[in-house]
Amino acid sequence: MRLGKNPTRPKTRILTAGEDACRLLEHLRGHGPDYLSGPQVQALRQIVLQNYYRDEKGRLRWRTADGGGLPPSSVAIISPYDVQARYARRGQVTRWKGFLVHLTESCADEGTNVITDVATTPATTNDAQALPGIHTRLQRRRLLPAEHLVDGGYTSLVHVAQAASEHQVTVTGPLPGNLTRQHRENQGFGRDDFHIDFDRQQVTCPQGQISKGWHGPYPTSSPTAAPLIVARFTKAQCQPCLVRNQCTTSRDSARNVGFPPRKLLDLQAQARAEQQSPAWQRRYAVRSGIEGTVNEFAHGHGMRQCRYHGHRKAHVQHVLTAIAVNVERLSVGLLPDELSPARPPTAFQNHLDHNGIPRLRSWRAVTS
Ligand code: SF4
Repeated sequence: MRLGKNPTRPKTRILTAGEDACRLLEHLRGHGPDYLSGPQVQALRQIVLQNYYRDEKGRLRWRTADGGGLPPSSVAIISPYDVQARYARRGQVTRWKGFLVHLTESCADEGTNVITDVATTPATTNDAQALPGIHTRLQRRRLLPAEHLVDGGYTSLVHVAQAASEHQVTVTGPLPGNLTRQHRENQGFGRDDFHIDFDRQQVTCPQGQISKGWHGPYPTSSPTAAPLIVARFTKAQCQPCLVRNQCTTSRDSARNVGFPPRKLLDLQAQARAEQQSPAWQRRYAVRSGIEGTVNEFAHGHGMRQCRYHGHRKAHVQHVLTAIAVNVERLSVGLLPDELSPARPPTAFQNHLDHNGIPRLRSWRAVTS
């Protein structure tokens, strides 16, 4: 059901559509289970479940965040035509519906850069979760790099460590900053002010107190977050402490310190120190070239418009686009400049030239 910009009685129309859909599903159920098994009926059932609920009196209601609750965006159907497409948000301005494509290209100093991998994931999937698949495919094709430059979305500690141990690939990219309150407000004792002794399973605080409990590592609910070890100080230690206000706001006046396992903590410290160096920043600057490639896919080949329905078919479109880009790049690289045939001007360009109107060169002309 589509509503115009200013529909009359929108709520009534939405509820009427819901009642119609429920009646249709009941009608199909009455004809037997075979009528309910098709993909379109299943999609309708899911859409009804995700958009409506029955209140305590059995009346159909339209779901909102406050009434009935909304499904998580990772499962919410946003189009009856493509039930695998998802709605995603990045930052304050980026919004899109569909999928997410991850492009990997070579970036050697010399020679043509070619696309070596294309991954298509649901739009709501965290970028870092695409890394293991990318490295496995690159290894199968014998295209695995020694160093993989990525943006900050891909650098989860877990996946950086996994790439190093399973594929011997150094993932280089800015690690997410320290998100603790103390670090944000630049005051108080943050985790780095505590000394962690993994061998004795003890943490020493800035006041010289030694933790009384060591728990974990606990797995986290996020697939990209590192497991967490928690060291606990007791009320008896923290309550009389003169600098307690700089350390904890907890109600029971005792500080807990959370940190990842030793291997991940060392990796994090090393990466954070390294990324401050000018050598690292020079090396990492090469990554920005991929933005031009994304632009080439999006504006030169219409990648932001899915021509097909479904995750698998969208992926085929992305792979075919990458093949076209590679063929185009390699064929330009093979032709010496003097042999490149000049493209004749179009009728529109002739018209601009004829009237003395300056015309902008396209991105293709600019890069050639
Ligand atoms: S509040 Fe507790 S953990 Fe924090 S500095 Fe004081 S004694 Fe140490």
